[in-house]
Amino acid sequence: MAKKEDCIFCKIARHEVPASIIYESESIIAFLDINPVNPGHALVLPKQHFSNLLDMPESLASELMAVMKKIGYAQLKALNAEGFNLLMNNMSAAGQLIMHAHIHVIPRYANDGLEHWKGKPYEEGKAEEVAEKLRNVLNKDG
Ligand code: AMP
Ligand code: ZN
Repeated sequence: MAKKEDCIFCKIARHEVPASIIYESESIIAFLDINPVNPGHALVLPKQHFSNLLDMPESLASELMAVMKKIGYAQLKALNAEGFNLLMNNMSAAGQLIMHAHIHVIPRYANDGLEHWKGKPYEEGKAEEVAEKLRNVLNKDG
């Protein structure tokens, strides 16, 4: 895993590495993903280095939410997108490649050919068993 000092998104946030920046404030930056799912696919992140959502302070949430909304709206207006996805990969097993927390804002079109991930139905009784495990942790730690 890259050290924090080598983090590419920290370097972009410090303007040491070029990126197509579309929004910037004191604490948040958004720029275009270099390998977009669709043109205009953007990444939104806190400038400060946090590894993933669990490390991020909740005080960032409202500005992050506001920026995601602004970018989604801009994708509809400027790119004629018909919808947009928000996606955050947290930790390697979930596909996180850059260990600086970021959220993807992906413009979508009805005919863009992208497929949603496939769901698998629960076996009989399993949903309640899983819900109980989650409730135990949520009520204890959350
Ligand atoms: P993730 O799997 O959520 O960690 O995704 C990392 C994303 O960062 C990928 O979609 C990459 O295409 C994108 N990415 C990697 N390096 C850069 C960069 N220098 N500028 C813009 N986007 C980048
Ligand atoms: Zn970083």
